[in-house]
This record gives sequence, structure tokens and C-alpha cells, in this order.
Amino acid sequence: MTKENYTAQVLQYIPVFYIIWSDDLLSASEINVVENAISNDVTLSSNDKKQLKAWMNVKNPPKNELFKSWKQLIINSGVKLVEHETYPLTAFSQKVVSHYHKDISYNDQIKSIEINLGIQPNHYSHLFDVHIDLEKKSSQYSAKTIDTILKGKHAKAIDSFRAVLSDPIFSWEVRRNKEEFRNHVLKQVEFLAGKGYGAMAYPEAYGGTNDMEGYAYIFENMMWADGSLSIKFGVQFGLFGGSIQKLGTKKHHDKYLNDTGKAELLGCFAMTETGHGSNVRGIKTTATYNKDSETIVIHTPGKNDNKEYIGNAIHSKMASVFAQLIVNGKNEGVHAILVPLRNEAHELLPGITVEDNGYKLGLNGVDNGKIWFNQVEVPKENLLNKYGTILANGDYYSEIKNPNKRFFTMLGTLVGGRICVARAGLGGAKFALTVAIKHALKRRQFNDSVKIQEDLLMDYPSHQLRLTPLVACAYVYHITLDKMMALYCDESQPDKRQVETQVAGLKSIITWYANDAIQECREACGGKGYLLENRIADLKGDVDIFTTFEGDNNVLLQLAAKGVLSDFKAEFNSAGFSTVLKLLSSQLSDKLSTINPLYTNKTDKDHLYNPKFHVHALEHRTRRLTYTIAMRIRGYIKKGIPSYQAFLKVQTHLMTLGKAYSAELAYKSFIAHNDTMTDPEYKALFEKLGTLYALHEIRKDASWYLEQGYISGTKSKAIRQRVERLCTELRPHLNSLVDGFGIPDHLMTAPIAN
Ligand SMILES: Cc1cc2nc3c(=O)[nH]c(=O)nc-3n(C[C@H](O)[C@H](O)[C@H](O)COP(=O)(O)OP(=O)(O)OC[C@H]3O[C@@H](n4cnc5c(N)ncnc54)[C@H](O)[C@@H]3O)c2cc1C
Repeated sequence: MTKENYTAQVLQYIPVFYIIWSDDLLSASEINVVENAISNDVTLSSNDKKQLKAWMNVKNPPKNELFKSWKQLIINSGVKLVEHETYPLTAFSQKVVSHYHKDISYNDQIKSIEINLGIQPNHYSHLFDVHIDLEKKSSQYSAKTIDTILKGKHAKAIDSFRAVLSDPIFSWEVRRNKEEFRNHVLKQVEFLAGKGYGAMAYPEAYGGTNDMEGYAYIFENMMWADGSLSIKFGVQFGLFGGSIQKLGTKKHHDKYLNDTGKAELLGCFAMTETGHGSNVRGIKTTATYNKDSETIVIHTPGKNDNKEYIGNAIHSKMASVFAQLIVNGKNEGVHAILVPLRNEAHELLPGITVEDNGYKLGLNGVDNGKIWFNQVEVPKENLLNKYGTILANGDYYSEIKNPNKRFFTMLGTLVGGRICVARAGLGGAKFALTVAIKHALKRRQFNDSVKIQEDLLMDYPSHQLRLTPLVACAYVYHITLDKMMALYCDESQPDKRQVETQVAGLKSIITWYANDAIQECREACGGKGYLLENRIADLKGDVDIFTTFEGDNNVLLQLAAKGVLSDFKAEFNSAGFSTVLKLLSSQLSDKLSTINPLYTNKTDKDHLYNPKFHVHALEHRTRRLTYTIAMRIRGYIKKGIPSYQAFLKVQTHLMTLGKAYSAELAYKSFIAHNDTMTDPEYKALFEKLGTLYALHEIRKDASWYLEQGYISGTKSKAIRQRVERLCTELRPHLNSLVDGFGIPDHLMTAPIAN
């Protein structure tokens, strides 16, 4: 059989037919995709369509002879398969036809088959005895443009900071002796303070630029130099300086903020105790006001009541100590007090004991330690008194009368640090992903015997599925954290309770994501990922603790979920609660009414790629979990179970809600951002990343959606296939996507990434 038997239009489909029949595994839905494409192809005559459809009969597949003649036809064309083309099969088919006939235009129906069946070059390149142009990346998207999109309005500040990180002081090397490592990191922190970065988030009067949003960015970028650097920098300027800025008043700012920003006054943030970590309200250190001497006496009462894990404890001159403030014999709750630790000669002051916490899993460039106070006296002016003060007459005064509310208001002001920790985790994940993807775009393992060259790791569908959704998550979380920081900094919105709830959940899911991503990248690099020189090992150790400090993730998730319920909380003990439940259930059943069999079975691409479907699915999960928790709590309360116990009984349910709410929030933040994008090409790329994030999120929780009857088995399968196809479609752009993170060459020191 020769080309004369086929029209140009039919000939264009032959490579496609050759591929889809080669594995003899055509499923009904695949046949459907091809048949639809043929029906919709206006370039085909009715005879062409008849001929093509005749080859789609699974009961009577094309005979071997015909199959071989297709192969010969393709080989004789001498056309090269160019793997890095955006749609390699469509382009290949077009070129084969152009060899035998006149030029023929690009066929969108073939492109739709290629996309919808997720046919990728490594699935079929072995079938053709043709030369293959191997290229690792597409240049369709510019990494620089992507980086510019991600930097947004902070581009100038970030670019100059990245240039500063090219100083030799930031060159990475293996440092295993903790003393040397800590001293080096201290020098780096002082270097950055000298350039004004320490004070960046402080007001201009104290050497800063009031730029907390920019600060969060540089904090993330610092992770690329070293995790210990980020954390020590964060302790000094964010935690210690931040407590002075946010909990102190003008006298504290005037006295300490300038020196803190310049790293001339080194400080630490002493909140956690050995006996009390997550439960900060339960700490035991006391700060007792002595009216006669107008001093506050700081004391560690018991064996386990010392401060522990305190960052910068060995290098600090001063600590911001959290303690129970006792005035006139009354405990006014947890307050922060500035306590000098050492003199100019760096000797400990009387009553202070400090012990090194020693070597840790990671962050060994940070000096964490334990601190004890034995009746240490400080002037009453050292009380950071923005939210509660000791008056001239020796009485305690606070505008916030409720001690609980006062405590949470104080902690709430420190939420910026929590956003920064999530950002640093994200920075770690971006670095590991860049290393793993760059490696997978060079490293080859295994091949089909007909091929000379082995396949790139990145061309294995399993590798794509392992890494691509993690890249999509990085983009979604980047934009989400940007938005959170902007909300946190928005002074026109003084009530930060909602941001606090949102950040609690997001910090949890993002730092967990970062740890998972780093582990996956380690494995994706094989043995090379285990070598310190490739940086993933240190990232693993450093980012691990991000799930615990600045609020343990499991505890924070409960906070986030309680925030979701808080609108209804006041009603829990009253008759009005049933009204709330009615409202919730009516909202739910409104939504549920749309979940008819047509919806649960809907598997077409337009539906599955539609953000409306994603939002609906993610909102439905949050709503349903909220409703069922509220119902369960109501049931317990009706039985007379105290509300603390009732909440314990639904604890795991609460955490599930916290995660669901956070994933929904992240996706909605991302699509809201994409709506503002003007360049259609990049907007399409970001939308694809959003779709992958959403479908991946639904796929991870498919068992829940199936249990609830929200999706059918067929839809669940279709979602899984779509996730794989999206990974394939993004494969050519992975290089640009990781370069788009903007990690400068001088910081990307991993040999396997270069
Ligand atoms: C390297 C490092 C640096 C640190 N830096 C500082 C610092 O500079 N300043 C500072 O003040 N602190 C610092 N910390 C302390 C850190 O904030 C605490 O470790 C953290 O708050 C958790 O407290 P914990 O270790 O006592 O754990 P715990 O509170 O004992 O928690 C242990 C486990 O129990 C679980 N758990 C606890 N309560 C609940 C609950 N209600 N429901 C369900 N599960 C629960 C947690 O999820 C966790 O998995 C640092 C810690 C480390 C390791």
C-alpha cells in the first residue's frame, strides 16, 4: 500500500492510528476521543471519515499487513520526530504529509487527540525507525518573564537582594562544626544588617523601609543561600525585633529598634519552655512586679520551666521573655519583658544560666539553647506594654479587659513570622524541585532496544507525576502567601483575626508540602540526592522543623478549623444553634441539589478543566466538613458533654476541615490572581498550573469524594487521567517553570543542577 491510496487528510491521521493501535489497548473513552475528533474535522471528506472510522473497530482492528505498511510509509518519509515541539505528534504528522503531498495546515483535531489521550513522545518514539531530535526543553515560555510575574511589585527589592547574595560570604560549603557554622552565619546576618536588610520591615525612623512584604521575599530567597541563615536572621530581626516593634511602645522602639536592625544588639525570643511548647498560655516563668523597687522579677520556678530551643541564645545580649505577669498578687497572663542576658564582654549576667541545645537534625548554624532565670530584676519599663501596662500607681492596666482576648491579640501581631516560615519552606521546596528537575532533564536511564540513547528521567510518566504537581503547588502557594502578607500588612484592615485563621492553616499545609516535596526530590535524584553537595540533604534537615516551630502544624490546623466554625461558635450553647445548622444544611442541600448523576459522571475536558468545577468541589468539601462537625458537636452538647470534651471528640475531623479550608483558600487566591493577568500566553500557563493543583487536590482526596457520592468511579478515573495528562503537557515547560522561581546561578551550587 502506498501513499497514493490515501488523501493528504487521511494520511495525516496515519501516525496517530499507528501509535494508538500499537499497544492494542484502546479503551472505550479513547475511541470516543478519536471518533469525536474525526467527526469534528472539517478538512475530512465523508469518504475520508468513513475510511478512518473503519480503522477504529476494536472487533476488527487493522490487519498486520496494513499496520506494517503504515510504518513503512512513515519511515520512508524520513521525517524527524522533534520531541521538544509543543505538540510533537501533530507536528510530526503534518511533516509526514508535507513530504508526500503539498503543504498542509496544522490539524487542530489531531492536536486534540494528542492532548486528550496524553500521547507523549516517550510512549511512541521507539515505534518509529526515524532519527529523533532530543531536546530537553521548550522555549515557549521565558523563565525571566515568569520570574517577573512572581516578583510582582517587589521586583526591584528582590533583584538587588539577589545581587547582594552573590558576595563570597554567602558561598555555600559543607559546614559540620557547629561553632564554626554558627559564627559564619552570624557574620552573614551582620553583613545583611549592614546593608539595611535587618531593619527592612521596621519604620523609616528606625532605619527601615516599612516593607514587611519585601522582607518575606528576601527571607525566602535567603533559604537558597542557607537555611540557618534564614532562621537566624528571622530570630534576630523578625522574632526579637518584631516583638519589640509589635508588642512594645515608642520608648522601646526609640531605645532598641535601631540597634536591633543593625544587629548591634543581638537578641532572642524566649517563649517556649521545656514543660510547655504548644500551650504557650501554660508557661510557668513568672514576671512579678515589685512596687517598691519598680522592678519586675523574672524567675524560672521549676525543673522543667526553663526556656528551651531558643534561637540565638548563645550569641544574644538580650531576650524578649514571655512570662506570667503578676501585679499586686494577680496573674494578668502572658506578657513579654526585655531581659538583658549578657554584659559587653559577653559574660552572663547574675541569675542567668544558658545551656547549648547541641547538635540538631538541621539548622546547625543556629545557636539554640536553654535559659534559666533566678530572680532576675529588670526595670518596669522593660515590659513590652502595648497591650498591657503597669501604671505609675503600680496597678496593671489594659484596654483589652478579657485576658484571653489580650493573649490572642498579642500573639496575633506575630503572625507575620508564621507567613515567613511558610515562605521559607516554600523556598526550600523550590530549590529542591529545581535540582531534581534539572537533574531529570539530563540524567538517562534505560531504553528500548531499538534506540541508541537511553530515556531522560523526565520523560518517564512516573517521574512527571511525582514532580509536576509539586511544581504546580509551588506556584499556587507562592501567590497565596503573597496575598496573605498583603492582607496582614493592610493597615486599613486592623482586625487580623481572619488572616490569623487563614495563615494558621496555610502555614501547616505549606510546610508539610515543603517537606514532602523535598523528600520526593531527594528520591527523584537517586543517590546524587543524598550527597550533601547537591543541597537537598541539608534542606531536608532544615525544613523539617518548620512543621513545628512558629506553631505546631497539628495545633494550628485546629485553630484554623475553629476559625471556620467561629461564626457559629457563639451559638453552640444556645437555642440559636439549631438555626445555624438549618442555615448550613440549606446551603448544603442547595449545593447538593446540583450533584445529580449527570454532574457526578461528567468527565469531559471542558468540565474537568473549568475552575467553576474546582471551586465547587473544594467548597463542597469545606462546607460538608463544617456541617458534619457542627452536627456532631451539637449532638455531644445536647448529651451534656462539656464543649472542651466535645471538641476533643471531633479533633481529627477538625484537622481534616483545617486542611480542606486551606487548600480551597490557596486555589481561590491563585485563580483570583490569574484573572488579573493580561498576557494570554502566560495566563494560559498559570491556568494550567491551577487546574493541575485543583485536580491533584481532588485526586488525593478521591476516597472522600467517592464516599460522599460527589464523584462517580468513572469521574474519579477521569480526574486521575487528567492529572497525568496535564503533567505530560507541562513536561516541555518544566525547565522554564523551575528557572522561573528565579534562583540565581550563584546560589544554585548543586553540581547535578548545573
Ligand atoms: C530548632 C528549633 C528552634 C526553635 N526556636 C524557638 C525560639 O527561638 N523561641 C521559642 O520560643 N521557641 C522556639 N522553638 C520551640 C518551638 O516553637 C516548639 O518546639 C513548638 O512550639 C512545639 O512545642 P514542643 O516542642 O513543646 O512540642 P509539644 O507541644 O509537646 O508537641 C508535641 C507533639 O504533640 C502534638 N500536640 C500538642 N498539643 C496538641 C493538641 N492540643 N492536639 C493535638 N496534638 C497536640 C503536637 O502536634 C506535636 O506533634 C524552637 C524549636 C526548635 C526545635
